[in-house]
Amino acid sequence: MSHQTFLTPGPSALYPSFEKHLRTALDAQIPSISHRGKKFQSIYRETFEALQELFSLPEEYAVLFCGSANEIWERLLMNCVEKHSFHLVNGAFSKKFYQFSQQLHLQSGQQTAAFGAGFELENTQIPKDTELLALTHNETSAGVIMPEEVIHQLATQNPDALTVVDMVSSAPYPQLDFRKIDSAYFSVQKAFGMPAGLGVWLVNKACLAKAEEIEKNIEGRSTGTYHRLTHLWETFEKFETPETPNVLGIYLLGKIAQDMLQKGRDTIRKETDLKANMLYDFVEKKEGLEIFVQNPAHRSPTVIVVNTATESSKIIQKIAAKGFEIGSGYGEYKNKQIRIANFPATSVAQIEEFIKVLDQSV
Ligand SMILES: *Cc1c(COP(=O)(O)O)cnc(C)c1O
Repeated sequence: MSHQTFLTPGPSALYPSFEKHLRTALDAQIPSISHRGKKFQSIYRETFEALQELFSLPEEYAVLFCGSANEIWERLLMNCVEKHSFHLVNGAFSKKFYQFSQQLHLQSGQQTAAFGAGFELENTQIPKDTELLALTHNETSAGVIMPEEVIHQLATQNPDALTVVDMVSSAPYPQLDFRKIDSAYFSVQKAFGMPAGLGVWLVNKACLAKAEEIEKNIEGRSTGTYHRLTHLWETFEKFETPETPNVLGIYLLGKIAQDMLQKGRDTIRKETDLKANMLYDFVEKKEGLEIFVQNPAHRSPTVIVVNTATESSKIIQKIAAKGFEIGSGYGEYKNKQIRIANFPATSVAQIEEFIKVLDQSV
């Protein structure tokens, strides 16, 4: 296979500086160092500080490392919910988080929106007894976002609930006010342009307090074994982890976060918007293609979902033969849609080139 450019919504193209940092890590023998020594502690600290700055995290936030975003869903439900989480569900990922709550026998609730639709503040109804409100900034299966203002307003209107935000396929794009929300999380194989194997959990002391309360008050209830929020937090305070962690991933994440800071989060955001507009503008005009998400305010800047008049698998094949990998539709839309990742790893020039290829392939 020729060298492909991955515009797939995760795993995706590697961040341009990834290879350089990987070589440095190998030269410094990072994969072999002990996770119980000073060197690892300084790696954890450096990655923590870079993410703290990148997301403007308040003092009371920890950055914890899990295996994946899936694991963070489980941790949030087991550690921060006694009975009632509430989920705004508009696609496969938000749905899976809700389903985990059912598998854990919680009495959770959900409000659903049609596939391709988002949530409006006016017609969301969050039950009063909600302990944890699960929001998704970017629903990857449908290419729908929840604008930051809506997230902030929902958090403010539900002060008794912990508000947690899935930003797996958009971070560092969303400008979240972490004083208003309580937790957000992502995994590194999406917009950070890294290999999979690390879930990153930004979490505040209100979540910790809830976990402590559950452990103290509910007899016979397990909140997990090695990855309990209380234990993760305790080890975080020493820049350590309960288990042998993905040391290489934690190191590389710190370096890429530093590169993103160097470039500037505003610049990354503007470039993402520019590339997204190029893609949406092209799709709007092109015969045989159609933007899936009707409401422009809900169209994702980082995962562009497009209806195809003909079988999308054929289009995807033609595009692959010309050097670009893109995603198929999700679930029942598999052969009716394409999904294009617009992550920071790809440049304006690459998107220009991709648009030419897409033009020839439909
Ligand atoms: C990919 C994705 C996940 C799951 O991430 P994993 O790293 O596979 O656990 C969760 N939420 C969203 C929105 C995603 O795009």
